Amino acid sequence: LSSSSGPRVCIVGGGPAGFYTAQQLLKARQNTAVDIYERLPVPFGLVRFGVAPDHPEVKNVINTFTQTGQHERCSFHGNVNVGKDVTIDELRQAYHAVVLSYGAEGNRSMGIPGEGLPGVFSAKDFVGWYNGLPSNKELHPDLSFETAVILGQGNVALDVARILLAPVEMLKETDITQNALEALAGSKVRRVLIVGRRGPLQIACTIKELREMVNLPNTRADMLPADFEGIAEALKDLPRPRKRLTELMMKAVKEGGDDKAEKCWGFRFFRSPVEVLAGADGKRATGIRLALNKLEGSGESARAEVTGQLEDVDCGLIISSIGYKSIPIDPAVPFDPRRAIVPNEMGRVQDTAGLYCSGWVKRGPTGVIATTMNDSFDTARVLIQDMEAGKLDLSVNKPGAQAITALLQTRGVRAVLFSQWEKINAAEEKRGKSLGKAREKLLDVDEMLKIAWS
Ligand code: FAD
Repeated sequence: LSSSSGPRVCIVGGGPAGFYTAQQLLKARQNTAVDIYERLPVPFGLVRFGVAPDHPEVKNVINTFTQTGQHERCSFHGNVNVGKDVTIDELRQAYHAVVLSYGAEGNRSMGIPGEGLPGVFSAKDFVGWYNGLPSNKELHPDLSFETAVILGQGNVALDVARILLAPVEMLKETDITQNALEALAGSKVRRVLIVGRRGPLQIACTIKELREMVNLPNTRADMLPADFEGIAEALKDLPRPRKRLTELMMKAVKEGGDDKAEKCWGFRFFRSPVEVLAGADGKRATGIRLALNKLEGSGESARAEVTGQLEDVDCGLIISSIGYKSIPIDPAVPFDPRRAIVPNEMGRVQDTAGLYCSGWVKRGPTGVIATTMNDSFDTARVLIQDMEAGKLDLSVNKPGAQAITALLQTRGVRAVLFSQWEKINAAEEKRGKSLGKAREKLLDVDEMLKIAWS
């Protein structure tokens, strides 16, 4: 491909949104070149650092992303932190269009006293720890307490609960980090409570994740029957997915599971965190104070209202799983702080011609990979429509990666190309093999770079 042969599009973020947007652009327009810039030396975003290690089938999307990464009109540039190493304006000058697909790297805080105490973690960090995110490698969660409390009842909360309670045999051949595997092998956590503000009919997890909890070996369900009053009567009017989910929950309440199980888990509904309680020395979390709620209204839109009653739960590990959050990466890009997204209309960033967005930064941090795929395909289609409608000035040649690579060089930044990531990949698979695992992830960015550029 000659440097002046067609539209050049730049994508910021090498997670599912970035790869799916690239895939669609490459497919729809035979002359378009696409460059992906990624902050980390390694690609795939939350498929690598979010999806649970015992869900290898979910990670099969990596095969499709790899085809895109190897495509002759696509180039991947890892180890480039956009907003810091290069600005969005610089990218806009070098490309005909820029797509923001940088996900949701922040996290929502509970906003309660004691949240910063040792023993309290965000699900994002905890998940990052067991999945080998370099910035979380020193997390060292103390697992010497019997009870863990997770705040939030979505799929991420259930992933964390499952990893905390799963028999180590279930995890040892996965790509969970060896650090985490060893810590979990010595864990004293026997009881995991999964707390939500609202009731069983408002729970946000999906049936697959709930079924995995129900079927977890050596565990039983420990629920409060009072939380389920009136639920049996409501069943018949529920939409089908919600009905199946609720039936499964009711079954778990009724049967409880294996009586001889050494571990247990349970939902705690109608409760909001009020304060993390510290021990006498004030040095670490030893419990959590919850406010009891009642529901106002019904169905998906029911609201939790406090009743004034409080309840203290002793626990040494608290994980808040109340949501990820996108953050602004460059002051030149519009950002809606209230919704924590880049404001856009169908993927066109508000008031900024030639700038687009896809994935979690476009619609907020919810939805599975398939949702992100559809949403990214939509953004790619809109971008192509704009190209074809003459809204992007394709008459000027754009230098693309050539100019950006030169610019980065003056700043002492060197990218990791896709073929160089493949060296990291091979090294990880090799280490994994010697441990009887699918992969042993490298945890250190410098080590990744050394292997990539060797
Ligand atoms: P991300 O995956 O976060 O990708 C964003 C990328 O942008 C990252 O690689 C990041 O490093 C990069 N980036 C960030 N800032 C910059 C910057 N300044 N410059 C350059 N690059 C940058 N979905 C399922 O279907 N099944 C599951 O089992 C499942 N499990 C999940 C478990 C967890 C814990 C989480 C959090 C999510 C899970 N999901 C699952 C949802 C799925 O991961 C998301 O739908 C999807 O990853 C969103 O894609 P994205 O590209 O928008 O964001």
